[in-house]
Amino acid sequence: MTQYEAVIGLEIHAELMTRSKMFCGCRVVDSVEAPPNTAVCPVCLGMPGMLPVINRQAVEYAMRVALALNCTIQHHNIFARKNYFYPDLPKAYQISQYELPLGVNGWLDIELDSGETKRIGIRRVHMEEDTGKLTHLEDGGSLVDYNRSGVPLLEIVSEPDIRSGEEARAYAMKVRQILRYLGVNSGDMEKGVFRVEPNISVRPAGSQILGTRTELKNLNSFRSLAEGTAYEIARQIAVLRDGGQVVQETRGWHEGRRETFTQRVKEEAEDYRYFPEPDLPPLEIDNAWIERVRAELPELPDAKIARYRAEYGLTEYDARVLAEERAVAEWFETAVSIGSDPKTIANWIINDLFRLMNEHKQSITEIRISPHNLVELIQLVSNQTINNNTAKEVLAEMFTTGQPAQTIVQSRGLAQISDETTLRNLINQILVNHPEEVIAYRNGKQQLRGWFVGQVMKATRGQANPALVNKLLTQLLNTPSDNTNT
Ligand code: ADP
Ligand code: MG
Ligand code: ZN
Repeated sequence: MTQYEAVIGLEIHAELMTRSKMFCGCRVVDSVEAPPNTAVCPVCLGMPGMLPVINRQAVEYAMRVALALNCTIQHHNIFARKNYFYPDLPKAYQISQYELPLGVNGWLDIELDSGETKRIGIRRVHMEEDTGKLTHLEDGGSLVDYNRSGVPLLEIVSEPDIRSGEEARAYAMKVRQILRYLGVNSGDMEKGVFRVEPNISVRPAGSQILGTRTELKNLNSFRSLAEGTAYEIARQIAVLRDGGQVVQETRGWHEGRRETFTQRVKEEAEDYRYFPEPDLPPLEIDNAWIERVRAELPELPDAKIARYRAEYGLTEYDARVLAEERAVAEWFETAVSIGSDPKTIANWIINDLFRLMNEHKQSITEIRISPHNLVELIQLVSNQTINNNTAKEVLAEMFTTGQPAQTIVQSRGLAQISDETTLRNLINQILVNHPEEVIAYRNGKQQLRGWFVGQVMKATRGQANPALVNKLLTQLLNTPSDNTNT
């Protein structure tokens, strides 16, 4: 039986979080929360005679992305009209880029489940504008909201280098992570500000010829992207095995049934009658501009991960977890810069802070604990004012009250008991109160030792210095004294 391999290329559309729209001064508003048609003007409503003006900030955001995706930025940029009629597109054309896109020939490395790295080519990154949003009513009518019309939109088109639904997911997640790092997109798929459309075909394994592709839409989560792609691969293979042919078309993903269905038979580029936008001059981008934007790029996740491992000696896993989100990474780096062992800080964040953040459903930017607060807590442990277990309790209280560690330790009297005389007296008292256990221990029942430690901790509400308790117990249990009376 013929073995097939899947070939997948992704088109990603990402709205840019600029303050104003791509070609007019209207605010970019939340498409879910803002009242419909309140951020519109004659330009983005497509009134005759209105002239577009290019949003410089949007161009810079787009340049950031193109550079972060290792693209070559083209100096000479042309906007084009993509003509088609639809009620969400009042001009009946979308201003986009066609022959001369902003960025070309990029790449992105993704990590596969096997642990290997795979390079995915990026064909182009271009600027365009979003359309309005249609809402279809049950009675058959439709509503249109033009708040989104003219919002700056970036299209990122990969080479057909992806081979499975899982790879598609890994690639799309990494693109989203970078957009979030760059501060140009929230990555919110539910709100539709980050949309992924895979082009999928299959071919006999080893063949160099591309099969007929379908394009998949309506994917509103990474899970749907992986599942929808896998479904489509299996469907196409089944069609071919049956002796049929794949039809080039756009298919939708049915979220409830978890299957794909025909939406429309694919239009070709010629159908759009692309031509250069006569109302916009060419956009010239010189080297100085490119280099300035490049210099302002933040350190990106892969570079951070490598540095955390080399400079701080973190494990690959810990480095990845901390670099996942820029805000977390920067929080961690601030703590390290205040001065404490990076590995200890990493452990506190990953094991304890994240658990509290989960419990309280708060992100790193919302919590009341500052990097400085955490470092102070760690110092109280290292100078033996409190032990590790107490520190965890203190952290939980810091989280809810926002108080510094020192204040909590003092007001609740949590400081560790490290005074030798105090502990010696206390232990002697415990031995006096439990003569039978003492005799049993001395007759060889070694496991009672843990029980004695427990008694000491109970009596001190867990505040005894554990190392000191151990030392004293060794002395006192092994050398009968007057007190123990045996
Ligand atoms: P358009 O969809 O506008 O025609 P392209 O032809 O450039 O644009 O392709 C869009 C995406 O589809 C790209 O990511 C590309 O890698 C991918 N692609 C093109 N042909 C195939 C194919 N036969 N199988 C799978 N992916 C493909
Ligand atoms: Mg397409
Ligand atoms: Zn407008």
